[in-house]
Amino acid sequence: MRSIIIGSGFGGIAAALRLKAKNHEVTLIEKHPDLGGRARVFKKNGFTFDGGPTVITAPYLINELFELFNKKPENYIKLKPLKIWYRFVFEDGMKFDYSGDEDQMKDQIKKINIDDVRGYEELVKFTKKIFDKGFTELADVPFDKPLVMMKQLPALLKLKSYKSVYSLVSSYIKNEKLRRMLSMHPLLVGGNPFTTTSIYGLILYLEKKWGIHYSMGGTGNIIKGLEKLMNEENISLIKGHEVASIISLNNKIKGVKLDNQKEISADNVICNADPLTVYEKLLTKNKFSSLFKWKKKRMEYSMGLFVYYFGTKKTYDDVEHHTIKFGDKYREHLDDIFEKKKLNDDISYYLHRPSATDKSMAPEGHDCFYVLVPVPNNQSLIDWSKEGEKMKNLVIDKMEETLLPNLRENIVEDFYLTPDYFEKELNTKYGSGFSIQPKFTQSAYFRFHNKSEICKGLYFVGAGTHPGAGVPGVLSSAKVLDKIL
Ligand SMILES: Cc1cc2nc3c(=O)[nH]c(=O)nc-3n(C[C@H](O)[C@H](O)[C@H](O)COP(=O)(O)OP(=O)(O)OC[C@H]3O[C@@H](n4cnc5c(N)ncnc54)[C@H](O)[C@@H]3O)c2cc1C
Repeated sequence: MRSIIIGSGFGGIAAALRLKAKNHEVTLIEKHPDLGGRARVFKKNGFTFDGGPTVITAPYLINELFELFNKKPENYIKLKPLKIWYRFVFEDGMKFDYSGDEDQMKDQIKKINIDDVRGYEELVKFTKKIFDKGFTELADVPFDKPLVMMKQLPALLKLKSYKSVYSLVSSYIKNEKLRRMLSMHPLLVGGNPFTTTSIYGLILYLEKKWGIHYSMGGTGNIIKGLEKLMNEENISLIKGHEVASIISLNNKIKGVKLDNQKEISADNVICNADPLTVYEKLLTKNKFSSLFKWKKKRMEYSMGLFVYYFGTKKTYDDVEHHTIKFGDKYREHLDDIFEKKKLNDDISYYLHRPSATDKSMAPEGHDCFYVLVPVPNNQSLIDWSKEGEKMKNLVIDKMEETLLPNLRENIVEDFYLTPDYFEKELNTKYGSGFSIQPKFTQSAYFRFHNKSEICKGLYFVGAGTHPGAGVPGVLSSAKVLDKIL
């Protein structure tokens, strides 16, 4: 069996390895000269900037890929559990250190609102139920038939999947700060906590189950370890070439054509590239049913991301590894981003400081950071060539006021990525940060199927298909493939 993988994100690499373990002849094709997709690495003047994922959860899904070939993960990667998972900082300066230490969690909650301690305990119990169903049972189930979905509907309704994550959390927690904090997880996978189905409340429990880890040397070192494994297992890697079209005959896959016109034949093509871009740009000759055309059209895309990477000539020792700073008008900010598709000055952001855990990420005496600000995706028609610099200055001003005093004068290295990068470089529709949104109407059967209904031999892994975005999600999508191919 010859299988081609288009794209080298975590989902594509996992698919390549899983199919290789089943004796497929595997070729992985990546547009860029380096692997990783959203998890690419940018190295500049002694700083190592991980492009995307930084919070590593469910590490067993990464370890499994090495174990498929009887290799020891620790010979390739080094994952370190973190003590403090996130430091939340509120507009009035209040801080909350969120971790797996339940006593410390409850002590901090008690100080904010004593009545919410009980609610927190109940919430955790309920998210365990969602986790048992939504992750343990369903994350790697192929949802390509309506019957599979229908069978699950009663259980999903019982778990209140029709509610949003924020509304679920609010039914247990009264304090607004705690509500925001405990319902923020959809933002990690491209959803608005106020509209994302409460199934994604499972992330709260998933973090508690296996902890939050950091990959020493950066997340890029996991990609590096997996690339080494792919080379050892004779997976053929074609880097620096884009797939220009997918070739099929009578709705059966025949292979792909590259940007240099070279054709490569295959029995299966597995797309790790964004599904809508694949359907619109790589399968131009295939016929789509009216139902499928409607499905494509109604999909709502996740927010865009403005990511500012910077290195400083001093260290900010009191800044945690992961900080989440809430703006005052949090809900309005999210509404502007997701619904009105416009920018708002009252930003909330996530600040990553890997050099808090790993000194190798910056030159001695320096600090390495990125700050991620959710922004509208490119349906907004924002001109990022003008707005990019403004956004960078706004973010620096905001960080100078609170977390990083005198930041501007200490920056020695910097660059930023906008939704244009995600659209043009990573081929993502509307430059969204996480492909389609994790809404109930776009989950499981309602998402782009892992096994395409358009063409025999065509499959999908990665953020736009089941189960969805985030490293555990895309690694699980490759496990779905294991069951159907
Ligand atoms: C800034 C940021 C921070 C994040 N933080 C976290 C985090 O802390 N924890 C977490 O779990 N998740 C995080 N995520 C989400 C997570 O990174 C993604 O959901 C996941 O990495 C996406 O993987 P994927 O398999 O869908 O492929 P992608 O990473 O999207 O890769 C797709 C690849 O396909 C290639 N490609 C596209 N079209 C073609 C073509 N025609 N020919 C050849 N190649 C093509 C692209 O170049 C790209 O390399 C973050 C995402 C971002 C952007």
